Amino acid sequence: MKGFWSGKRVTVTGGSGFLGQHIVKRLEGYGATVFVPRQKDYNLVALDSCMRCLLEHPCDVLVHAAAYYGGIGINQAEPAKLYYSNLVMGANLMEAARLANVGKVVNIGTACSYPGYLEGDLKEEDLWGGACHASVVNYGLTKKMLAVQGVAYKRQYGLDSIHLILTNLYGPGDSYNPDRSHVVAALVRKWVEADLAKAPSIEVWGTGKPIREFIYVEDCADAIVLAAEKYNDVNLPLNIGTGIGTSIRELVETINDVTGYAGKIAWNADKPDGAVKKVLDVTRMRRELDGWSPPTDLRAGLAKTISWYRANKAQADAKW
Ligand code: GDP
Repeated sequence: MKGFWSGKRVTVTGGSGFLGQHIVKRLEGYGATVFVPRQKDYNLVALDSCMRCLLEHPCDVLVHAAAYYGGIGINQAEPAKLYYSNLVMGANLMEAARLANVGKVVNIGTACSYPGYLEGDLKEEDLWGGACHASVVNYGLTKKMLAVQGVAYKRQYGLDSIHLILTNLYGPGDSYNPDRSHVVAALVRKWVEADLAKAPSIEVWGTGKPIREFIYVEDCADAIVLAAEKYNDVNLPLNIGTGIGTSIRELVETINDVTGYAGKIAWNADKPDGAVKKVLDVTRMRRELDGWSPPTDLRAGLAKTISWYRANKAQADAKW
């Protein structure tokens, strides 16, 4: 690992964000020279700005970890912004990468790209087998286009790239804003606040039946850096996850347990459930990453996240 990255120039879009900062930390630890484009300097939705970024900071590897994204709430509230910003940013970065002769592009995709109505665990081969779930189509489809672009750009321009498909992330530094957050951050905030206020009950969205898979953000960064080194097949994306499904009800019970909250839980079935199940098959991940699997189990990751959130509440709440 160290040998591979030593002396490499890597640009990480989204490198100051929730996931990206952990990717940067690891790459620097392995001896890479990392550049993180900041929004005030480079508007990555514009092609000329992507070009300027890659020409001013030539790189061997481009990790595209920037995204405008969030949970089921923002997918309902801002479908057009999710669509436009992610689609155009991804397309322009790939175009700039081939014009600037970047050695390899690592695109960070999402489990929202999978067909939303499949029953079993999601295998890479299933990616093209059906429509995205309506609740996340505007985000899921735009990221999926990067996989199409990767194959086309390899064939016509010889650009090397890979497409990594991530499951739901959680951890310190996530978005804890209820209008944007995913379920773990949303519930951590609700539980800590209810505990502080001694509130008699907490409202949780949906029925509690949907199954999700959760990966601790630092584990995910480990996998991405490993895959950036070892995985090279542009024709097949690679899933990054735990492979473990947890119902929202089980998640709620675990958070309840870790926080020690003693009030009632009110399920609001008027709020959307989203996909019935979203769990990745990680068989290929284990094989391609030399047997790696995420070391942090859900309970341990939640305990770390909750204690971080308690200690950094004002800062966490101020973030969009
Ligand atoms: P998804 O994985 O793309 O569907 O997005 P989310 O992480 O936002 O939601 C996952 C599941 O958690 C859905 O079934 C939601 O209904 C459920 N959920 C329960 N309470 C909440 C909440 O307070 N916020 C969010 N975002 N989801 C919640």
